[in-house]
Amino acid sequence: MDAEQLGNDLTHVVATREELDRRIHEIAREIDGDYANLDKPLLLIGVLKGAVMVMADLARAISVPVHMDWMAVSSYGSGTKSSGVVRILKDLDIDLKDRHVLIVEDILDSGLTLSWLIKNLKSRGPASVEVMTMMRKPDAIKVQVDAKYIGLDIPNEFVVGFGLDYAEQYRNLREVAVLAPHVYQS
Ligand code: 5GP
Ligand code: MG
Repeated sequence: MDAEQLGNDLTHVVATREELDRRIHEIAREIDGDYANLDKPLLLIGVLKGAVMVMADLARAISVPVHMDWMAVSSYGSGTKSSGVVRILKDLDIDLKDRHVLIVEDILDSGLTLSWLIKNLKSRGPASVEVMTMMRKPDAIKVQVDAKYIGLDIPNEFVVGFGLDYAEQYRNLREVAVLAPHVYQS
């Protein structure tokens, strides 16, 4: 689905298909260089459900061998902002012992979820843990998260598309766009 088809549900596109593709391929080349000659394949860990699209595109753009696994987490918050208290809804199938791990995320907002996740994965004895995030918002500076690979910096607005939803909708939008306020105020 394209932004044009959604008419007035969206105000404007913040990341086009071309921008997303270009950054994914640039980052894939960096990853190929950084993880050349590992003993075991690089382990990509996608955070469900938002990271499904970036994982699918990034994994296919990477040339070094990879394994893929998935985690689902939910963060408890008093309102719409995450609190940093995280519950695991679906844990990994693969043992992290001595593995080089790359967390693949859709968007880095407050950083609370990712900083919890990094700590949790590091406690399982991996060889390394790094982060690739497709997008980053300005709020991300509030909690220090060292994301090694960052796709695009976007404005501090609620966006949907390329895996990101509003009430489970819009994940299949090919671009990333700002949701029009009337959609969530109605
Ligand atoms: P935080 O970094 O604040 O702990 O949480 C990041 C998570 O909140 C992301 O993985 C994503 O699921 C969700 N999130 C943050 N900003 C947005 C946004 O603009 N749109 C959507 N749909 N989800 C967002
Ligand atoms: Mg997410």
